[in-house]
This record gives sequence, C-alpha cells and structure tokens, in this order.
Amino acid sequence: MAEGRRALRFAIIGAGMAGILSAIKLREAGETDITVYEKADRLGGTWRENTYPGLSCDVPSHLYSYSFAPNPEWSHRFSPGAEIQAYFEHVAREHGVVDLMRFGDAVDSCAFVDGRWQLRTARGHRDVVDVVIAATGVLHRPRYPEIEGLDSFGGAMFHSARWDQGVEIDGARIGVVGTGSTGVQIVSALVDRVARLSLFQRTAQWILPQENPAYTDEQKEAYRADGEQLREMHAHLAEVFGMFAAAVVDADSPQIKAIEEMCLANLESSVPDPELRARLRPDYRAACKRLVISPNFYDAIQRPNAELVTEGIERIEPGGIRTRDGRLHELDVLVLATGFETNAFTRPMMVTGRDGMSLGEMWAKRPNAYLSISVPGVPNFFMLNGPNGPVGNFSLIEVAELQFDYILQLIEELQTGRCREISATRAAMDAFEAERVDATKHTIWMTGCRSWYLDDRGIPASWPFSFARFREEMAAPRMDAFETRT
Ligand SMILES: Cc1cc2nc3c(=O)[nH]c(=O)nc-3n(C[C@H](O)[C@H](O)[C@H](O)COP(=O)(O)OP(=O)(O)OC[C@H]3O[C@@H](n4cnc5c(N)ncnc54)[C@H](O)[C@@H]3O)c2cc1C
Repeated sequence: MAEGRRALRFAIIGAGMAGILSAIKLREAGETDITVYEKADRLGGTWRENTYPGLSCDVPSHLYSYSFAPNPEWSHRFSPGAEIQAYFEHVAREHGVVDLMRFGDAVDSCAFVDGRWQLRTARGHRDVVDVVIAATGVLHRPRYPEIEGLDSFGGAMFHSARWDQGVEIDGARIGVVGTGSTGVQIVSALVDRVARLSLFQRTAQWILPQENPAYTDEQKEAYRADGEQLREMHAHLAEVFGMFAAAVVDADSPQIKAIEEMCLANLESSVPDPELRARLRPDYRAACKRLVISPNFYDAIQRPNAELVTEGIERIEPGGIRTRDGRLHELDVLVLATGFETNAFTRPMMVTGRDGMSLGEMWAKRPNAYLSISVPGVPNFFMLNGPNGPVGNFSLIEVAELQFDYILQLIEELQTGRCREISATRAAMDAFEAERVDATKHTIWMTGCRSWYLDDRGIPASWPFSFARFREEMAAPRMDAFETRT
C-alpha cells in the first residue's frame, strides 16, 4: 500500500464471474485485505449451478471471456457450460484468488455501523470491512411455476438450474416446461436420447439460427501462437454485439428489422407443416423477449418422438401433465425450464444502510440503483450486474468489467482519504431513473410481449441506451452524482 493511502478491507459477496473479476482487479490494484464469501462449495455461480444437457453460452466464447484472460482453447464458437465453468476455475487459480474465497458461507446480513460494514454469515462468522462488493448474480434464484399439483408428480422433477444427474434420461418420456434459451437448448440436446419429448409452450419464441462450429486444432494453435489474434477477435465481436445492443434499444432500427427477417426466414424455411409453423410463430416482434439462438431447435421439435404442446396446462398429476383439453401427457421426467427470480439481486441478504434503512425496504416496490451500481444512503457498497443494468444478448463479462473499473475509481476516493463514505445521491438516482424510463419507450422490449425484462409497471428493467453510452458512463464517475462524507 503506497504511503498516505488508507488501507481498506474488502468483502466480495459471490464467487461467480463477477466476484472472481472483482478479486482479480482488486489484487491488481494492490489491495491485499480481501475476502470473497461464497455460499456454495465451489466458485462459478451460473456455470456451477447449470449443468443441463445442451447448455452453452449464447454469445461467442471469444467474447464471453475476460478481456485480460483470452482463451485459445475454446472448443466451439458457443462452448458448452462445463468448459465455461472450467475456464472460470482456471482463471481464478491462475490469478491466485481462490485462496481469498471462503466457501460454504452465505452472507446473511451487512449493516453499515459507524462508517464500516458489519457482516454476519449463515455459519455465524462475523467480519468488519470498509467496502462491500455485491456480486450476488441476476439469473441465480430459480423460479418455479405456479401450477396446480406441482408437488404431486410421481416421476423425477427438477428445475433446469438444479439438474439431477442421477436421473436416467435415455429412453425416458420427458416433459420440458418453458421455451426460453434453456428450454430450447435442452430440447435440442435430448430429443435423440429420449423415448418421447413433450415441450410445453406458453409463448412461441423467435429463433435466430447460428451455427456452432468446433475450432480446429490448427485454429487453436494459431490462437495460442498469436495472442494478438485473440484480442482482435474479442474487440471485433464486442463491436458486432455493440451494434446488436444499439439495435434493440431502437425498435425502428434497420438492424432490428434485419434480425426479424432472419428469424422469420428461419421459421419459414425450417418448418414445412403450416399448422406447426403457425403454432411456432410468435405474435410479437423478434428480440422483444431475449432472442433465442439455436441452429437446430426447429429440426428437434419436428422429430417423430417430439411434440410441441400449446394447449394450456390444467394441472400436474402423478402420471404427468394434464392439459386443458383433458389430455394426460404421461411423463417419467419433468424439467422446469421456467427461468429465474430476476429482481432479487442481493436479496434475501439483509443490507442495512446508513440510517438503518434496509435495501429490502428501499426496494419494496422494485429494485433501483444509480447506474445499477450504487444506492443512496448505502455507502461503500457497490453492485455488479445490479438493478436495471444491461441484460440483452451480449456478454455480461464485458458489462461487469466496465462496471468494476468504474467502482475502482470510487474506491480510489476512499483510499486517498478524499472521503470516508461514498454513495450516489438520491437526486442523481431519481434523475437517471426518469431518463431511463423515458428511453425505454423506444426499445424493442416495449413492443408488446411479456418478458422477464419487464418490471411490475411493464417497464423494461434494463439499460435502454446504446452500449456506447454505457461505456461512456462507465469511463469515469460524475462526482456530483455522489454524496461523500469525510
Ligand atoms: C443458463 C444461463 C446461460 C447464460 N448464458 C449467458 C451468456 O451466454 N452470455 C452472458 O453474458 N450471460 C449469460 N448468462 C448470464 C450469467 O448469469 C452471467 O453471464 C454471469 O455468469 C453472472 O455472473 P455473476 O457473478 O454476476 O452471478 P452468478 O454467476 O449468479 O454468481 C453469483 C454468486 O454469488 C453467490 N451468492 C449469492 N448470494 C450470496 C450470499 N448472500 N452469500 C454468499 N454467496 C452468495 C452465488 O452462490 C453465486 O455463486 C447465462 C445465465 C444462465 C442462467
């Protein structure tokens, strides 16, 4: 620690992609007093928890990588989940941050008392730190559907994020509820292994066809030999996905129309049966919901042992799913690919700010934060992938990296002693929220679909500006948006 700088103690909560990133970046910045709290027994977050067949990233692997840790070994354009988990384990080990992690200990509460954060964990451990980095995840808490008789099912039933590897899938009659990216990946991966596959669809999805070629040994060798090639590819992909991000926030953009045309052509050319095609055709615009990327879903759902069930679900019975037309779809295994509680963020952890006000109370209506990072009255507490941040079809790693560089600049204020407490002002948060809500009107997410992006008011809980603007905002904090105390 350089002379004249305040030594700070840090707690990072969560050892997923964002928590690992935070530990690495803090270390690089010269910090040594860091503990990463992780409630599970391993790092990895999303990629530790999701082990379902067919799981892969849906942005190219060479973009879904830390900018400081390019990986010449990616096997495919969109690599499988287990490889992504192994990547995070490797990067954490290589950067020497695994030793900072305290596994199997959930942080239950954080309270800001006399200028410092007091933490208490589920195992009764207590800690006092200066700065909390909340990297607790977004797509983390499984959402279970409210269907009558759910618990009465006689076969094996689990959420896609809690896949039971002990259950025999081969030759089974399997039901999948949910048609998001996960449901589509599972159907495509399982159809050739099972006796019968029934996909229960409430909402049809637009599917963007994207091939998933394997990298050849020659390509990997070239990437190993020339790191510059990888960095260039990362930068190129970031640019392409930046254009996509700009398209979704402008529902009238030519790019979004081009995406719609590609999805429509995919449906028209892949599904000859007009009746099935009609049932697979969404009644809303492409990219209104998170765009599903798949090279083979339409093939999979047209296999003789596959059935698309669009009749509503009446209830679940011991033998299977009864649809509203009275038919019982007999099943051995039922997979709930029904997504996540997307507005939990740091909860249920109890976070109490300066005046005894909890985040739970502040977020009673809905979660909010200035630039998704800082909350008024909750000093020295910074979130990665917090409320209303970018969540479109692009790399959340890039988002977290930009957010962390911003947070580091706020931490710098504490280290230099310019202040002892820093949090966004209410005025800054309210002004940002008003501008954000206004900007959502022009986005594709507001063109008439039900999606997990929409909050209780029907407003997309996301970044409605361009990715270029996100980069700009993250480049340097506007200090007048922050309240500081010395
Ligand atoms: C199936 C699936 C596919 C995805 N594909 C992509 C993709 O292709 N591209 C993309 O950009 N994003 C994708 N995502 C989003 C993905 O969640 C993020 O990219 C990223 O992994 C999130 O990292 P994170 O560290 O913010 O959160 P998480 O990975 O959720 O990690 C949060 C960690 O915090 C821990 N934790 C939470 N609360 C506490 C507590 N109180 N105390 C201690 N520990 C706690 C959790 O156990 C977890 O390990 C996908 C998500 C899912 C579910």
